[in-house]
Amino acid sequence: MSRYIATRAIRGANALVTEAEMMLNKAMTEKGANTAVAFPNTAYYLPLIYGMTGKQIEKLGQLSEVVSQARALLHPMPSTKHWTPYLGETLDSGMATLLAAETIEAIRFAYGLQPETISDLRLSEGNLKASFEIPTENPKSSIQNTGPIDDIRLRSWGIQLVDGRMPGFAAIIGAAKSNEVAVKLVRELQRRNILCFLSGNVNGRSIIHQLMEEGVELGYDTYTVPFGTDTLSAIYALGFAVRSALTFGGLKGGQARDILMYNKDRVFAFVLALGEVDDLKYAAAAGAINFGFPVIADTVIPQILPTGITTYEHVISMPWHEIAAKDDLERAERLVQKCIEVRGVKVKITNVPIPVPYGSAFEGEVVRRADMRVEFGGKHSRAYEFLRMVDMAEVEDGKIEVIGPDFSHVEMGGSMDLGILIEVAGRKMQLDFESVLERQVHNFVNSASGVQHIGQRDIVWLRISKAAADKGFSLRHFGEILHARFLADFGNIVDKVQVKIITDPALHAEWLEKARVAYDYRNRRLADLTDESVDTFYSCTLCQSFAPDHVCIVSPERLGLCGAYNWLDCAASFEINPTGPNQPIRKEKASDETKGYWEGTNSYAEQGSHGNVPKVAMYSIMENPMTACGCFECIVMIVPEANGVMVVSREDTSMTPAGMTFSTLAGMAGGGVQTPGVMGVGKYYLTSPKFISADGGFKRIVWLSSIIKKTMAAELKIVAEREGDPELIDKIADETVCTDVDGLLAHLESVNHPAMAMEAMF
Ligand code: SF4
Ligand code: ZN
Repeated sequence: MSRYIATRAIRGANALVTEAEMMLNKAMTEKGANTAVAFPNTAYYLPLIYGMTGKQIEKLGQLSEVVSQARALLHPMPSTKHWTPYLGETLDSGMATLLAAETIEAIRFAYGLQPETISDLRLSEGNLKASFEIPTENPKSSIQNTGPIDDIRLRSWGIQLVDGRMPGFAAIIGAAKSNEVAVKLVRELQRRNILCFLSGNVNGRSIIHQLMEEGVELGYDTYTVPFGTDTLSAIYALGFAVRSALTFGGLKGGQARDILMYNKDRVFAFVLALGEVDDLKYAAAAGAINFGFPVIADTVIPQILPTGITTYEHVISMPWHEIAAKDDLERAERLVQKCIEVRGVKVKITNVPIPVPYGSAFEGEVVRRADMRVEFGGKHSRAYEFLRMVDMAEVEDGKIEVIGPDFSHVEMGGSMDLGILIEVAGRKMQLDFESVLERQVHNFVNSASGVQHIGQRDIVWLRISKAAADKGFSLRHFGEILHARFLADFGNIVDKVQVKIITDPALHAEWLEKARVAYDYRNRRLADLTDESVDTFYSCTLCQSFAPDHVCIVSPERLGLCGAYNWLDCAASFEINPTGPNQPIRKEKASDETKGYWEGTNSYAEQGSHGNVPKVAMYSIMENPMTACGCFECIVMIVPEANGVMVVSREDTSMTPAGMTFSTLAGMAGGGVQTPGVMGVGKYYLTSPKFISADGGFKRIVWLSSIIKKTMAAELKIVAEREGDPELIDKIADETVCTDVDGLLAHLESVNHPAMAMEAMF
């Protein structure tokens, strides 16, 4: 245990708390104690302060208490004589630093400043100049820093964190040895699907600059989030950690100890400090250690090895030039490996033999028309994908054929027809799993850097970027990706995989026809799959790693609330992993088929929720509704005045008639608790005949986010017809019609919405 670290962390904390005090005084004089302070689009106030102290800060004046609390945590410098190997002083200093840092960022928002300009404000204070040197110019182009992550993004990453697609996050602070090393570090992390939060600088150079200079695309979609080029902006990474605990762990503001423990046990994060570590960085690192996040530095710093707070070591020094490796790139790789080892991050990577980087971090990447070498599907050509099950003898595992011309003859930015035929065989393969597996093609193919995949079946739209083509990416590589991933991810049901990439016009047409016959068959099969037609539902407990008492019960007519798992997916998943998160639930005897109670589902709910949810009504929002974790696509909530429900999409940031936005409502819907009148659901459940059927069904919807009306127009039209009211969708209000109850009632009256005449909801 190092006194040195304690000394520097204490010194950094003292300086920052003093700075926060000075800034706050100045801001109170200039702006007044009643000035509003808030981070955008979060229901958790200033999240770190809220989590750690329970204080719901909304005004500048309230920050005084926070700063006093931070000051109370400060310690005098440890004396040489009375030094005991005790981590408490370092941890306290760390917490004080975090409280002060979030205070300073909040003051910035009170001034309406952009992330970069905070530096000007802080430097104008005239103190601490040396430790907060900020770059004066942005090389190449201006940096678009993200600032705090909003609740919506947090929840959508939540599902990836729980299903293991994203093993954890890395808070990278400082600057790498060279641009090349910066890129390599981030690529190694992306390859493992680890989210990278970027902040800080060393003598004005930040890893953010380095990555931008090298043309690395930064942003939410590529798992690389530039918070800001000063150390303080690292606070947003810890705010994210606090909110994970509040959102998924069902914890409340002020439960500091539980929130910290939650992170230590469930959030696989670490800090990677690149370059010289100054007092402030020591202090911030001490803050991270409170969360159980270890700090790994690429410079010589004293280590804190004994475990206790963190799962393994607290602080690890891995001096760059002492890393045994043939070159800097290999050093970077070793460094990342060490981080993963120290935090105990569980990482699963499949090596896919293609000439471009590969990993889910590239899933959301967009290939713009200008950067495009060639496209398949879209406006000018037809692309489809079709996965079919065949006999063992018909498949030669690993065989990849390109039948027809490749794209070398297509002009730059041009398009061509493409068919991808995947033939699989396996002893446990079933016809019903074809669609489940085929749906994976999207993620598998999209994970290649420089490849964009949209749509499915015969409306696939694929693009290959010039950069990927220059690196040698060719049609054959689609086959390589699919072969490797299907075997790695679905090895329990698929023994052999072969892929035909078809561009030959006659064969393209022939297989398109065959594929359409299969799509049609699957559609009819899905329509026949009703809750009555099966005797088994499935559980999903994937989200229990985040929401320990939540269980989704998935039936043919009610998919999981994240929208990612339907009944067929769960059935396939059970075959793949018989002891995994999807277990069959035999319905057994019905006690009330209208509300959706069966002996089997109730007893599973009780067991799966560890006794917290003894009964679940599958078809009611008013009585024992299904619980939610935090991943729901929409929130359904009763609007008592309107005798109906509103449905708010995750993508809708506007106000709703309940007087709350999605972010705030999500706090009520999540956490694995049953709240009658509020429910988180998958958006396709809205179109199910079993949608709150015990409470009157789809006709109860009086308000629906316009984005759902737009993106699901075709499906909703069918529902309206099924309900015997073809004009129904137009009668439902949305945020462009009204965002309050009075407006809603007036609208419902004027269009004569059916809910007005239905029996009272409760
Ligand atoms: Fe989580 Fe439910 Fe989706 Fe499973 S189905 S991943 S438990 S939200
Ligand atoms: Zn979930």
